[in-house]
Amino acid sequence: MVPKEYYGRLFTEDQLPTDYYSEALTLESMVKIDNQLRCKRCFSPIEEEWQLPNGKHYCRACIVFGRNQEGKQLYYFASKEADINFPVLKWSGKLTSYQAEVSEKLLKTYQQQKNSLVHAVTGAGKTEMIYKIVAYVLETKGRVAIASPRVDVCRELHIRLQRDFTCSISLLHAESEPYDGSPFVIATTHQLLKFYQSFDLIIVDEVDAFPFVGNPMLNHAVKQAKKKPDSLFT
Ligand SMILES: [Zn+2]
Repeated sequence: MVPKEYYGRLFTEDQLPTDYYSEALTLESMVKIDNQLRCKRCFSPIEEEWQLPNGKHYCRACIVFGRNQEGKQLYYFASKEADINFPVLKWSGKLTSYQAEVSEKLLKTYQQQKNSLVHAVTGAGKTEMIYKIVAYVLETKGRVAIASPRVDVCRELHIRLQRDFTCSISLLHAESEPYDGSPFVIATTHQLLKFYQSFDLIIVDEVDAFPFVGNPMLNHAVKQAKKKPDSLFT
């Protein structure tokens, strides 16, 4: 049986125990776009000198997640429906009318399969505004990731959301415990590179600021970790 923490995840050949090769789906490790070799996992252009003694190229940009190498496949397991107990939300606070309005809009745009961008000043209560949509997605058996480039923000959110939600939440950053298969993840943005078409909803903190803006790897990480719209109903 495939371990639950494998679903929606991307592995290099060396990371996946051989017993699971036959059950996994595969991807080419590198893609060639406009004559430029790119890493399938992080989309970085592969530089000429990123080469092993055997002549094969590899990606140095995402090597911290295990070496992705030319000629070796990447393996992934299709995402699975969340299996959690109801109700997911135990927060008993009350939203201000502004928060309630934003919260309702977020839910509507999600249901229309569109993206939302929320501009809110510090102290506006951004976190509570996402509770409704997060609970909705989890309760409809979807999977949710909240990503921030800042590890301190992730840690703080994890403490707060664990208090306000009934389900277990996996916290992922460079020094965290390994992923436990939870359908609700709080992660530094880079950690999303470990997932493939995994989440129904991804919320990115400070998406319009450094380091997210102008960083193709982080943009790619979010896009790749998100389920395709047409897989929302499978
Ligand atoms: Zn890469």
